[in-house]
Amino acid sequence: MQRIYLDYNATAPLRPEALAAMQPLLQGPHNASSIHYFGRKGRKAVETARDQIAALLGLPAGQIIFNSGATEGNNTVLRHFDGERILISATEHPSIIEAAPAAEKIPVNTQGLIDLAALEKLLKAEKTALVSVMFANNETGVIQPVQEIAALAHKHGALFHCDAVQAAGRIAIDMPTLGIDFLTLSAHKLGGPQGVGALALGLCGVTPTLLHGGGQEKRARAGTENVAGIAGFGAAAKAAQDHLHDFQVLEKLCNELESALIKHHPDTVIFGQDAPRIANTTLFAAPDLAAETALIALDLDGIAVSNGSACSSGRVEPSHVLRAMKIDPALAAGAIRISLGWATQPGDIEAFIAAWTKLYQRSRKTAHA
Ligand code: PMP
Repeated sequence: MQRIYLDYNATAPLRPEALAAMQPLLQGPHNASSIHYFGRKGRKAVETARDQIAALLGLPAGQIIFNSGATEGNNTVLRHFDGERILISATEHPSIIEAAPAAEKIPVNTQGLIDLAALEKLLKAEKTALVSVMFANNETGVIQPVQEIAALAHKHGALFHCDAVQAAGRIAIDMPTLGIDFLTLSAHKLGGPQGVGALALGLCGVTPTLLHGGGQEKRARAGTENVAGIAGFGAAAKAAQDHLHDFQVLEKLCNELESALIKHHPDTVIFGQDAPRIANTTLFAAPDLAAETALIALDLDGIAVSNGSACSSGRVEPSHVLRAMKIDPALAAGAIRISLGWATQPGDIEAFIAAWTKLYQRSRKTAHA
């Protein structure tokens, strides 16, 4: 059976460029801190990748700190401000929410967009050390007005952190122009390997550090570098940047998909439909169709999609993102996420639409039986 993968926001398949960069390094032995030949080879690979990640964000290479991924990056920044006032959006990833349990939440509207007036009111009310708002939401794909949020934070003396995991390599990000002080990235969302990421530092001069015990990454992140993983990350970032315009083509496929969903049932709800969204993501709920049933039926047809956020799969609670958007919990419980990426073909969407048609007709028959 031909399997079709439409779950890129959970993880993307490895890009061939990343595999090619990693393969010669996997056997090692390349400790990038060693001064011998093998160490120097590892160091060269790490520094090449640093240049590639910096280029993706419009930064000097020295501003990139490699780590194990966005969960670590988010914890590193949020924990640095422990004991100080932090504002986060109500739709952040759990690696932000749970790293800063005392943080106050900035509300979002029913489209999932930050309420800028509410943010300003919160900033005026009390001195704030950090504002953390993600670039694009992993469940809905909704893009936040990052530049405006950064400007508001700075106007009131706060620093600004942005989890850009779902935006990097998909839309252009120029960190200095946007005014982002700290930005987290994860390699596997843009076609690199899992278990590697980076914290990018803007120009505020603060270096949050979580892991101590070694001089790696200019003492900002202790632990032997994942040389092959970092090389794969860099190559994937470069490939993503070189093909940034191709990503926008996915919007056409997403639009076709959304039209087909609405055609089947005009009451289908596409979450965040009226907000700017990343070109690859559709989160929707179809009336009378349970997400679990749909997911299993689609999987039997060879199609991999997700219910809400795959990061929280296995959990039956409704999504906190949809709750913050004031979506009826019964509707939210039926949410299905389709996310496309670098290897998605128009035929994949056609296959999804065919499988969906079959599923919907079957569910209608059952409902009427
Ligand atoms: N932030 C967002 C928005 C994410 O989507 C994810 C992964 N689902 C993470 C953080 C965590 O990334 P990682 O798995 O690389 O730790």
